[in-house]
Amino acid sequence: MSKKLNVTVWDEREGAIGPYPNGMYTTIADFLKKSGEFGEVRIALQPQPEHGLTEEVLNSTDVLVYWAHCFHHQVEDNIVERIRQRVMNGMGLILLHSAHASKIFGRLVGYEPWKLRWREVGELERVWRIDHGHPITAGVPEYFDIPHSEMYGEHFHIPTPDELLFISWYEGGEVFRSGCTFKCGLGKIFFFAPGHETFPIYEMPEVQRIITNAVKWAAPNGNPPPITGNVTFERPTPSVK
Ligand code: ZN
Repeated sequence: MSKKLNVTVWDEREGAIGPYPNGMYTTIADFLKKSGEFGEVRIALQPQPEHGLTEEVLNSTDVLVYWAHCFHHQVEDNIVERIRQRVMNGMGLILLHSAHASKIFGRLVGYEPWKLRWREVGELERVWRIDHGHPITAGVPEYFDIPHSEMYGEHFHIPTPDELLFISWYEGGEVFRSGCTFKCGLGKIFFFAPGHETFPIYEMPEVQRIITNAVKWAAPNGNPPPITGNVTFERPTPSVK
């Protein structure tokens, strides 16, 4: 049996928030643990030394789940670079909600923070599953409704994603590429927009299924790293004369 994945759930703040008395990170870590799919599921928080993401923690993390909204600017550049290096070397990265504006997302895919529309009035969000063959969408209905959500709308100023898995429609009329994948180096990245902190969105079974699927999908495949750099010239020997 292959090694179970180690997951680290990261949040930009500690303690209760909105409908999450023990913090959103506890809710996320708990449903990942309950899935029985993973090995160790740890929590790391921005107020901790090195934002909880020491070399030791990151080097033993297969997939990092990253939730952030308001304090991106407080994340130290050397820690961002440490995360980037790990992703380039194969660590999976799940970026939740406003993590689209995080330094790490910007550095990996070249996105400038807050280049999108947004509105916070608690409107309905309908999330459409538009890729029916992808492991991240497995077991997710054709669409599901989030009764109250924050609107993120197009234009979302990202490079064209490698895969577009979900599109959201909002009661106010906007649409958004709410579930996208990117590959950077050896690492796999999934961005999933739903998850505003004042609504219990991470309690929803559909959302839990998507994030659990995404963590499994983003895991490193264990292959040896590819050979790069200057290589010697060797003329291939013809196999047939
Ligand atoms: Zn929000």
